[in-house]
Amino acid sequence: MKFLKIAKEALRKQGRRLLSYSRSHPNAFMARFFMSFALAIMTAWGTYTILQPPSMPLTTFLEQVDAGKVESATISNEILNWDVDAVIGGKGYYVMVPPDGIDQAEGNQSRNITQVLKAAGVKIEFVDGLRSKIEKMGTIAAPIVMVIFVMLFFFFQMKDSSTAWMKIVKDVKVKFKDVAGADEAKGELREVMQLMTGELDFSATKARMPRGVLLSGPPGTGKTLLAKALAGEAGTSFIAVSGSDFRSMWYGGSQRRVRALFDYARSNRPCIIFIDEFDAIGAKRSEHNDVISKESNGTLNQLLVEMDGFHNNDGITIIAATNLADQLDPAVTRPGRLDRRVEVGLPTQNGREAILVVHCEGRAMAQDVSLSTVARGTPGFSGADLANLVNEAAIFAARDGRAEIRSVDLEAAKNKVIMGLERKSLQLTEEDRRLTAWHEAGHALAACLTEHSDPVHTATIVPHGRALGMVVSLPERDRVSITLAKLRDDLVVAMAGRAAEAEVFGDDMITSGAESDIQFATERATAMVTRWGFSDAIGMIRISDSHAANDQSVKEEIRDVVRKAYERARSLVGDNRTALDRIAEALLDQETISGEQVRAIAAVNAVAKAA
Ligand code: ADP
Ligand code: MG
Ligand code: ZN
Repeated sequence: MKFLKIAKEALRKQGRRLLSYSRSHPNAFMARFFMSFALAIMTAWGTYTILQPPSMPLTTFLEQVDAGKVESATISNEILNWDVDAVIGGKGYYVMVPPDGIDQAEGNQSRNITQVLKAAGVKIEFVDGLRSKIEKMGTIAAPIVMVIFVMLFFFFQMKDSSTAWMKIVKDVKVKFKDVAGADEAKGELREVMQLMTGELDFSATKARMPRGVLLSGPPGTGKTLLAKALAGEAGTSFIAVSGSDFRSMWYGGSQRRVRALFDYARSNRPCIIFIDEFDAIGAKRSEHNDVISKESNGTLNQLLVEMDGFHNNDGITIIAATNLADQLDPAVTRPGRLDRRVEVGLPTQNGREAILVVHCEGRAMAQDVSLSTVARGTPGFSGADLANLVNEAAIFAARDGRAEIRSVDLEAAKNKVIMGLERKSLQLTEEDRRLTAWHEAGHALAACLTEHSDPVHTATIVPHGRALGMVVSLPERDRVSITLAKLRDDLVVAMAGRAAEAEVFGDDMITSGAESDIQFATERATAMVTRWGFSDAIGMIRISDSHAANDQSVKEEIRDVVRKAYERARSLVGDNRTALDRIAEALLDQETISGEQVRAIAAVNAVAKAA
């Protein structure tokens, strides 16, 4: 094998390829051989059993013997029984009989099947069970076994060397200019690109070239795009796989795929291997010894071996992407492996504007469009969300028969991206509509009357997805940390939906509609108590999730935080009943109202701010 590798290397340098060279591992070959063989035998056995004549119960058979209808019988000995292949009325039947006595004839003499048949004058043949089976199998099944074996053998071979599961782009068009914002990540990758192309030379200082880069960040922030742009700038091929692609239904299959990936990459240098969802393959190795853990540990080990340049990996750069960087095995990020880690976060306001500019390029925009306003109004949006927003706006404009995108299109598109798809088809009863209207009015009012919560952007009672209605609040600016005051106010806003239901319809009429509010409140309050040190009783200590779930005093604290928020919400809606009713009526009337409308109603009718 080693010799072949050297020979292949030499040939490649001369620009030629060694033909019919298969780099199958010898073990893989044997595994394939035996697996194909076993499956072929099993299939043949199945066919053989199906081809067996129909079976007949022993008692029925004996009746046929007595009636003199049995023409001939072939008896064969099996391990625990005898088999009789009988011909009755020209048809073959199969009867299973015990080898010892089955019949007590005259004088207490126990007779076995041979004696019974002989007495009845049936023509009997006795054969060796095993031998006759092998003979039958031989004639019926041997050709089938051969064909199936060959088919399976090549099928497994195919699975081995197939590259169909990899996405391969030879000529990448994406460039760094297509990636907006993400300046740090771009800077880092630009340096990698310069090293790849030799623009930057590390050899003078004997610095080590980074072998791989780990891009970590939430979905939709442009990690795939960055990796593609790197390939586009460096002019290399781009081989994209996903961590989940390595999950294989064959034992050892995922390791084979890792090998196949690197084999392919080595014969297509220079190239970039992009592994998306890297956590699916690079997660911490398990200490368990079950089959699944063994398989996934083996996959990661194989990947590390390949990355370590045990083989010659020059010209191969690995870019991995994940949003679960802290779950990776520490071995993955050791020097010589994915030794550069780049955070790709959600874009800032300037970043969002730049991304919008990139995606609006080549589209006609009306005079009234201000992308910086859109950028300001979309905190928390990822690059993918913004790309989606521009596309939806273009669809709105086209539906309206216009070639240019207007500000209203962008606004409508933004709502669509935030709220998801409307479910107009869901018909609500009048009672449900009223309950929903006051529930959402509660949220909206509380958002107006609490100082630190985010301003309302839209309130609606049109069902979206699983929600019957919703209030969307957008932060006024990008936020890095959250104050205790804001956390508390956010909880009041979350609890105000249920509080309004109870206030208006009575304590018995509250609904299940607060499920997601309760989930949000629980998660927030739990983090406040167990991670952010906001509980006096618990103190500034970090409590693990598993501990928090079982600790009574922690649960008591979490409950207390939520209960206080609910009490504040309840008195807020009670004190401002007129404002609450006006907002709910506006919702019943118009179904969707803007944040400005909510604020205008509250400004006129609200009497008390939140305590
Ligand atoms: P990730 O891999 O981080 O989940 P992607 O690279 O797949 O994100 O992004 C999906 C799409 O979103 C891209 O194809 C692109 O249209 C858009 N996008 C995301 N981030 C950016 C960005 N920084 N600049 C321009 N477009 C972006
Ligand atoms: Mg992606
Ligand atoms: Zn709610």
